[in-house]
Amino acid sequence: MSKNQNKTGSYSFFNCIEKNFDKAARFISIKKGLLEQIKACNSVYRMHFPVKIGKEIKVIEAYRVQHSHHKLPCKGGIRYSMKVNQDEIMTLAALMTYKCAIVDVPFGGSKGGIKIDPQTISSENIEKITRRYTSELIKKNFIGPGIDVPAPDYGTGEREMSWIFDTFLSLRSGDVDALACVTGKPVSQGGVRGRKEATGLGVFYGIRELCHVKEDMYSVGLDVGLVGKKIIIQGLGNVGYHAASFFHESGAIIIALAEREGAIYNEKGLNVSKVFLHLKNNGSILNFPEAKNIENTEKALELECDILIPAALENVIHKNNANRIKAKIIGEAANGPITPEADEILDKKGVIIVPDIYLNAGGVTVSYFEWLKNLSHVRYGRMEKKFRENVNAEFLKVIETVCKKKISIEEKKMILRGPREIDLVRSGLEDTMINGFHKIRDLKKSLKIENIRTAAFVLSINKIIDSYEKLGIFP
Ligand code: GLU
Repeated sequence: MSKNQNKTGSYSFFNCIEKNFDKAARFISIKKGLLEQIKACNSVYRMHFPVKIGKEIKVIEAYRVQHSHHKLPCKGGIRYSMKVNQDEIMTLAALMTYKCAIVDVPFGGSKGGIKIDPQTISSENIEKITRRYTSELIKKNFIGPGIDVPAPDYGTGEREMSWIFDTFLSLRSGDVDALACVTGKPVSQGGVRGRKEATGLGVFYGIRELCHVKEDMYSVGLDVGLVGKKIIIQGLGNVGYHAASFFHESGAIIIALAEREGAIYNEKGLNVSKVFLHLKNNGSILNFPEAKNIENTEKALELECDILIPAALENVIHKNNANRIKAKIIGEAANGPITPEADEILDKKGVIIVPDIYLNAGGVTVSYFEWLKNLSHVRYGRMEKKFRENVNAEFLKVIETVCKKKISIEEKKMILRGPREIDLVRSGLEDTMINGFHKIRDLKKSLKIENIRTAAFVLSINKIIDSYEKLGIFP
């Protein structure tokens, strides 16, 4: 057993990322000490605080980790789960650093976590815990628009972000930029349109881009394009649900969906919105009328398909099931769903893996747009929408005169439309994901890097080195 392996023979989560980092370091020629600085977590804040739940006092364990201060503020979600521990939060914070660099989001990486099971705690108590956690962060200067900006993650959403903002504002009243202390807020509380579905939509854009590359598709025996591709998605949370919906709308076939309690399968395809309705009404995806149940949810990952999207938690594909995975493409919508051992097995099998540090960066990209919106105090499109519509109307008049032809009302509506906030956010996200994909792919080709993950790490580390150099830290 190597020094990096724990008793169960598997690597700690942080060591997994270090392994990926070290593979990339072979393609980078700077001093080892400098690479060590990039790899290390800059600050780890572990806290315990008491919360009165019913008649009892419960001691809550929580974390905020800032992995890198090479750019500020730090940025990363907060997760609520009984699996939260220091190693996990440190790893997820590191992933945020690499993720932000890839998609040109000018932040260092961070992550937070509270060790609770939100499904067994009342909303009043979750609110109490969230507010107390926020005041702990404020006390230690671990939150603020220019310091560290949380966002939703596993087990948290708009509701928790609103409480965080409200707590921050009540303790920092008069701070005109207070809205920018957290992202993923509801639109009515300074959120940006398009944030909720952003990670899932980013996953869709990233995979769509890959599917348009002839050379890559032929290398795994697939046709170009998304239409007709058979897809399995694990996890119907915010990310998995939206990714599934976008794939379904684009003509791909969702043959299986997996949740904690089991999976459902239909070779001809599942209607994602109907499945979601069934889940809402029954509290489970099982027994969906148009599908077969698969009791052992892990088995769903091993079904024959073109694309597998793990969109739940880390380490779900490991050395014991990697050999049985039949997908030709795996898109990491979750953070760290594949262990390094599984990664090597899948690589040898020729599976194309689109890594988390690129593929699920849509969430933080749109968080960046929200942060900018909060600092500029104006909704996207507010200044230019009408102006654009007026200019478009003038253009139309000229075209109609020159062509001596009237344009239909439907066409007019489409051409005249000025950009709304949602249009601008989505186009910014689409452009970011397309550019990110090609930058990684071009680097992979030019340096003859073995896979997309290593190429993504090389791209990211190079960008971080560049900012440290410009800061004057690395002479
Ligand atoms: N929790 C998300 C992630 O892991 C989003 C983070 C953010 O928006 O800051 O990427």
